[in-house]
Amino acid sequence: MMDTYALPELGYGYDSLEPAYSAEILELHHGKHHAGYVKGANATLAALAEARDKGDFDALNLLQKNLAFNLSGHVLHSLFWQNLGPNGGGSPGGEFADALARDFGSTDGFREQMSAAAGSVQGSGWAALTWDPLGSQLLVQQIYDHQGNIGNGTLPIMVLDMWEHAFYLQYRNEKKRWIEAYWDIVHWQDVAERFAKIKAIDLDL
Ligand code: MN
Repeated sequence: MMDTYALPELGYGYDSLEPAYSAEILELHHGKHHAGYVKGANATLAALAEARDKGDFDALNLLQKNLAFNLSGHVLHSLFWQNLGPNGGGSPGGEFADALARDFGSTDGFREQMSAAAGSVQGSGWAALTWDPLGSQLLVQQIYDHQGNIGNGTLPIMVLDMWEHAFYLQYRNEKKRWIEAYWDIVHWQDVAERFAKIKAIDLDL
């Protein structure tokens, strides 16, 4: 069976987000952690195919959990790498900044809420800026693990990894320093272009 998912190449070198994000932690995060979710998602699809072939769904509950966890991990990390860049930081502009002002009061208002969401994740999880196609609005959400606590139908535009593997090697227990560093490497052009694309989606609900 051909693998469905593959680890995406980064659009920049492992050392190009320094000093905000060290080459050592980026290489491990991408090459080991993200790669693990890709492998897990492919292995789960293979196990599901085998279960169908055998007509044996005894382990289905576990496989569904593994699929949600690994596929969501793959999606979020793929997005996270694109949200970052070597010439990041600063402030967004254009229609995206207008939307942030409409839904959060201002870009700073959004930044404060996103930082607070990231800083208050309990256990492993993410902060995410998402688009809610039903309410036609931007929302900040917390994601538990990779797949929990996220509103169905909402689509992630910009994410911040708050798993300890994402920062501990460089920032130890100082979560707030990792969150501040994140804002220095955000690639706003990617985020704004993603917002424009996602906003055009109509779920027809
Ligand atoms: Mn991660």
